[in-house]
Amino acid sequence: MRYHQYYPVDIVNGPGTRCTLFVSGCVHECPGCYNKSTWRLNSGLPFDDEMENRIIRDLNDTRIPRQGISLSGGDPLHPQNVPHILRLVKRIHKECAGKDIWVWTGYKLDELNDAQREIVDLINVLVDGKFVQDLKDPALIWRGSSNQVVHHLR
Ligand code: SF4
Repeated sequence: MRYHQYYPVDIVNGPGTRCTLFVSGCVHECPGCYNKSTWRLNSGLPFDDEMENRIIRDLNDTRIPRQGISLSGGDPLHPQNVPHILRLVKRIHKECAGKDIWVWTGYKLDELNDAQREIVDLINVLVDGKFVQDLKDPALIWRGSSNQVVHHLR
């Protein structure tokens, strides 16, 4: 997996103070996409063990308490990202007690395959669906267009 941006302290992309990771790779090609540069899987930087360890460290950093992590992109549920995101969310569960996990994807919740669902079973919130320009509404919170749904899963 590769990634475009990592914000160790973020108050914009999700509730509270969080870590945010924007991964590379998206197949949805939504017209008006806010993050076109992330579409190619081979764009951005390698997401290596060092980066994964850094996220775990940041989430456990008591000097700046984080509510959790936001995983966006690109698409964290792109089939080629799924094994890496699954490994990351499993580690967060095991090593970062009490931190919430939010994931943004262009897929719809009811069209996810078994591997993608394994991730969804471990996260708190899934914001799903493609961005639809005609349904864009700047008043919406945590989503760009009104077709997208914020699923509070647990
Ligand atoms: S799903 Fe998100 S990142 Fe992918 S094309 Fe649509 S708006 Fe862009």
